[in-house]
Amino acid sequence: MQLVFATNNAHKLQEVRQILPAAYEVLSLSDIGFHEDIEETGTTIEENSMLKARTTLNWLKAKHPETVNAMLGVIADDTGLEVEALQGAPGVYSARYAGEPANDANNRRKLLNALQPYSTDRRQARFRTVVTLLRSTGEEMQLEGVARGCIAEQEKGDRGFGYDTLFIPEGYTRTFAQLSADEKNNISHRGRAIQQLCNYLSEL
Ligand code: IMP
Repeated sequence: MQLVFATNNAHKLQEVRQILPAAYEVLSLSDIGFHEDIEETGTTIEENSMLKARTTLNWLKAKHPETVNAMLGVIADDTGLEVEALQGAPGVYSARYAGEPANDANNRRKLLNALQPYSTDRRQARFRTVVTLLRSTGEEMQLEGVARGCIAEQEKGDRGFGYDTLFIPEGYTRTFAQLSADEKNNISHRGRAIQQLCNYLSEL
């Protein structure tokens, strides 16, 4: 059962492949020969998630009309880190928080600077992911996954990507970057959204 995941982010791909049962074959954008950049022009993570899925499904329908009907569908995810003390920023702008081109290390540095005046108990944040599923039948749905926690005062750990070295999930003292892949997937925003997707797909 093939799903196209509208991403070339190796970390996201690895996570989703690990969360979904082996019966699902998850193809990336480069796996299907899609090499264009999808501009994230939406103003919400719901819109950007839909945009990535829609662009990919339309491309597949145009280039590979015969295979698209045999596939389960296209999925896309968009994620925002919403920090309470920053009124929900960087949110939908998390990838380009420190400006263009997107750079994870600069984003983390900017976040640490912005939170410098805030003590440990005032650094609450949440990751929010919206996963979109589009099927060639026209069916579409969006699933949300949230992980609550707080922003550490310095980077810790060497696993993961993005803001992982700064995010301490609720109930833990370690950052996402200090957890094993399984530990992160069990409690993460993406893990929760993909688990819901999995439950839905298994009922089809
Ligand atoms: P996007 O969904 O790829 O647009 O991600 C938005 C921003 O959040 C980027 O800077 C990513 O690096 C970051 N991000 C997305 N998912 C995660 C995650 O699971 N952990 C840490 N950072 C993430």
